[in-house]
Amino acid sequence: MMASKSPLKIGIVGAGIAGLSAAIALKRAGHAVEVYDDWGFDLKTVGGVEAFQIRHLDGATAQTTWHDSLKDLPQRYGASLRFLRHGDLHTGLLKHLEATEGHPVKLNLETNIADLDCEKGIVRTSDGVEVEKDTIVLANGLGCRFLKHITGDDHPLLDTELSFFRYVTSAQEFYDDPNIRPLFENQDDEICFFHNFAAGTSIVTYRCEGGRARAINVFARRPPSNGAKADRSARASRSDLLDMARDFHPSIKAILQKAPEEGIFSYPLLVRDPLTRYVNGKVVVIGDAAHVMRPQQGQGASIAIESTGCLEVLFQEIGKEDVQSRLKLFEKLRLGRCGPVHVFSNMPMGPDGYSWMLKKIKPFWDGFKPLPPPGSRPVSKPFRDFIYSYNVQEESRKALAEAQR
Ligand SMILES: Cc1cc2nc3c(=O)[nH]c(=O)nc-3n(C[C@H](O)[C@H](O)[C@H](O)COP(=O)(O)OP(=O)(O)OC[C@H]3O[C@@H](n4cnc5c(N)ncnc54)[C@H](O)[C@@H]3O)c2cc1C
Repeated sequence: MMASKSPLKIGIVGAGIAGLSAAIALKRAGHAVEVYDDWGFDLKTVGGVEAFQIRHLDGATAQTTWHDSLKDLPQRYGASLRFLRHGDLHTGLLKHLEATEGHPVKLNLETNIADLDCEKGIVRTSDGVEVEKDTIVLANGLGCRFLKHITGDDHPLLDTELSFFRYVTSAQEFYDDPNIRPLFENQDDEICFFHNFAAGTSIVTYRCEGGRARAINVFARRPPSNGAKADRSARASRSDLLDMARDFHPSIKAILQKAPEEGIFSYPLLVRDPLTRYVNGKVVVIGDAAHVMRPQQGQGASIAIESTGCLEVLFQEIGKEDVQSRLKLFEKLRLGRCGPVHVFSNMPMGPDGYSWMLKKIKPFWDGFKPLPPPGSRPVSKPFRDFIYSYNVQEESRKALAEAQR
């Protein structure tokens, strides 16, 4: 616990990855945190599996088209790349929050926030209860209805007309299948993509749950039968997946034969254009609420967690009178990080993708700083250099010291 001034009263709307990470960060900074959400969690262990390479294979031939080693990540950036299930990270954060030293965090997990007042720092629950806070962290995900309160504008969700279809299967069962085994035999743990760019279908797979399980993500145009565009309860069937991958090599189709027959989770891929403000009055927006992006750089949750590292540093040794200036500093620092990552993630894969990126990145990028060259694949070294080599705590401390000089 760091703060020597009296603790601030902080409200966090949303107990997803961003909200729980913010709760940990602000508890560590010494504040009295209260979290609001309207659902609960299962407790499991976190079983991240380190990836040592990234591999792209052509969907039709199952031949490798691109390969990049990730073995130098710890030495180059100070950490490895680990794959884990969203739910496992979530429950791991919840455990970490409980174990973190500081003022006990109050979790209200059956409370929907219906409105807020940015100037006064008030959240109003759907039962009509108003609570006043010194700071409110808005971390309520892509469905956030309060962005107009922050920026004054509507920020509609844009439908990519693509969906992610996800399931997890036994890793062992996978290797025991003679049709599938050759695809992964003698390979280091990896993130592996099978692409059919022309059809807009990709299959992404990695091990998780400590290596016991394998996650399969099929990224494809949404079949018309698959629910309304923002319908998060939509499910797909094995035959839907096999249809999406009809032009894929038999060994890759064998992967999809292992999918459950029905009930495969289907996530419509919805995005927003980057915001140019994250703060209004006592409210700061983080996570998917601030920057819901395509998953191609694997950064939605990561950049949200990074933002909470910034909050932790800027909210140390802070009194109520400092909140506005610290939030403004947060906004300045995070627009320069979340903005570019958002644009890099949403960059279309086709021939117009690079010019699209050059246009969209302007508000967030110093024109003299080199950009990843045209043709750089997502997660390739030019992107890794920008995304992974940033030390959020160091940069936030430096900026705070400069602002206080
Ligand atoms: C297919 C796919 C693959 C992905 N892969 C990666 C990856 O490899 N790496 C990565 O870093 N990220 C990845 N992401 C992104 C990542 O999952 C999200 O960025 C992250 O989960 C967002 O967390 P969040 O806490 O901001 O939002 P959410 O997880 O959406 O949490 C928001 C919370 O707010 C609550 N809430 C909403 N409204 C209210 C309200 N009015 N009152 C109270 N509570 C409310 C909700 O119940 C929810 O619990 C991927 C996403 C997808 C879809």
